Amino acid sequence: MASPALSALVLSPFAGSFLANLAVRLPAGEGVVRGRSRCRSCGATLGVTDLVPIVGWLLLGGRCRHCRAPISAFYPRFELACIAVALWAALVVPGWPVWPTSLLGWLLLTLAAIDRAHFILPDMLTLPLLGLGLAVAAVLAPDRLGDHAIGAAAGFAAFALIAAAYRRVRGREGLGLGDAKLLAAGGAWLGWQALPTVVAGAAGLALAVALAARALAALGGASAPPLAADQRLAFGPYLCAAIWLVWLYGPLSAAGG
Ligand SMILES: [Zn+2]
Repeated sequence: MASPALSALVLSPFAGSFLANLAVRLPAGEGVVRGRSRCRSCGATLGVTDLVPIVGWLLLGGRCRHCRAPISAFYPRFELACIAVALWAALVVPGWPVWPTSLLGWLLLTLAAIDRAHFILPDMLTLPLLGLGLAVAAVLAPDRLGDHAIGAAAGFAAFALIAAAYRRVRGREGLGLGDAKLLAAGGAWLGWQALPTVVAGAAGLALAVALAARALAALGGASAPPLAADQRLAFGPYLCAAIWLVWLYGPLSAAGG
């Protein structure tokens, strides 16, 4: 494996550790960069060995070494997911672009985790992701930078319009502007041509997951939970997945390519 891929893989559990921390602290309004990591139960400052991703969690049996309070399995699971993202990137993307690809995947994972748990997509993540997408486009394909800038604007406008229409028809908030900023970031990374694939892909994934959940519930003998029309659904994770897949494999084209 070439060295950019290897360095991304080596870095991935540490990026995962930092971003898992961010995903927990950001929605709680806590600082991340300032201060060291603390046990969320007793407040004890975690030592270096406690912060070694995954291994530290396993060695401590998933508990704080001071108060023995359980430390959420979210942390090692998130770190494993970040390793998987770097591996996936290394298998698909040749050369140094594996770095921005891994970074995109890690940030999308963070956004998906936060949205799934809290129904928010913080500006502190979506807006830097948007800027990063334009910067990467400027380096990788400077002659197509305009497509990516239009993608960012069109992504925001399209989703903001859908959200406004939804609000008017249903009389309440269904899609937040966080989703619009996330789609804007997607447009910045992918160019405006990819936006229809991203939106259709995200909607298709959301529907497939909802149907699979109903089928599983039915198989388990439980009465299928009704898919209430007013049920709250975090759309962000599906947008994140669609952006990731289109970045790696390209948008669907009319030619079927
Ligand atoms: Zn503790």
